Amino acid sequence: MSNTAELIATEQRLGAHNYKPLDVVLTRGQGVHVWDSEGKQYLDCLSAYSAVNQGHCHPRILAAMTEQASKLTLTSRAFRNDQLALLYEELAALTGSHKILPMNSGAEAVETAIKAVRKWGYETKGVPEGKAEIIVCSGNFHGRTLSIVSFSTDPDARGGFGPFTSGFRTVPFGDAEAFEAAINENTVGALIEPIQGEAGVIIPAAGYLRRVRELCTDNNVTLILDEIQTGLGRTGKLLAEEHEGIEADVTLIGKALSGGFYPVSAVLSNSEVLGVLQPGQHGSTFGGNPLACAIAREALKVLTEEKMVENSAVMGEYFLEGLKSIRSNIVKDVRGRGLMLAVELDPEAGGARQYCYALKDLGLLAKDTHVDTIRLAPPLVITREQVDWALDRIEKVLMQ
Ligand SMILES: *Cc1c(COP(=O)(O)O)cnc(C)c1O
Repeated sequence: MSNTAELIATEQRLGAHNYKPLDVVLTRGQGVHVWDSEGKQYLDCLSAYSAVNQGHCHPRILAAMTEQASKLTLTSRAFRNDQLALLYEELAALTGSHKILPMNSGAEAVETAIKAVRKWGYETKGVPEGKAEIIVCSGNFHGRTLSIVSFSTDPDARGGFGPFTSGFRTVPFGDAEAFEAAINENTVGALIEPIQGEAGVIIPAAGYLRRVRELCTDNNVTLILDEIQTGLGRTGKLLAEEHEGIEADVTLIGKALSGGFYPVSAVLSNSEVLGVLQPGQHGSTFGGNPLACAIAREALKVLTEEKMVENSAVMGEYFLEGLKSIRSNIVKDVRGRGLMLAVELDPEAGGARQYCYALKDLGLLAKDTHVDTIRLAPPLVITREQVDWALDRIEKVLMQ
């Protein structure tokens, strides 16, 4: 039995089966490429769900990580460290936010925002205790904790996990009228993905988020945008909200905040919302640790200094045009913004997964999502030649 087959068998035997990965065992990555246990090279078109926007094992982030790891890794927030203030300063300068709260995973950033916005609702908006409501959208994906799956509309995400956290009101994604109708005097916040990634790269109509922004402002509702996947260059802007020329009250980032080296997330906000949290009311042992901060600082510098956001816009447009020019009768829709792209197949095509396996055989790794959709999200460092290379393979597979 090959080493690869053994590793897969051991995972199956000892691991919980909460994922169904493609059967490729990766051992190394550099830039847009990864290599498997048999030495085969692939172009990565998932980027760990946009956590490695900067490319695999970026040498500058690696150097910042190893340097910090040899000095100081964790103090807990019982003491201060010399990296946190600098991360705050650099994040604030980049995004214009006035208050920042660092966490680890994306789900923790979402939980943090929900807690802060509820407390803001009671203390500042005057909502009666226990009555706060947050508007969320159908098809959402915000993570896997119990409170977050409480307002998921995906039966797999929720089924069997009740009782659930209450206080959420679900409206159809992209429907501003339904959003308006759901607002009442107890609405403290709205939690929205600017583009729904896990739902299959669903892009709302132009103007939707602008209207939601207006409604939130008019009704004193805190707009929370979950940019954990869309943020940090993925859609061709630093934050996806820029496409609509709006600003959220609370922005959640994670994933690429560390360039894939470490779990780092953050809640970015104005002073009013995060200002309600007092000592002892929220925290995390690892949140804001010096190693995480040093990694995130360099990951942000790399993103801006190496013009990855601009490259995402240019290559994204080029990739999208290329995909649209493929004349395959099994393609139902092609869509994308920046390097967040998707090819939706006809239901008769028999599911996207087999096409992902065919792409894998040709050296391109992509992930099926929601049965019929192939998501394409390469690292933001991809070149025109590499996009052409990918388009060749995708065309071949879709024309078979
Ligand atoms: C990945 C993701 C999350 C959750 O992040 P984790 O780090 O996996 O907890 C939340 N929201 C969105 C939009 C995501 O894509």
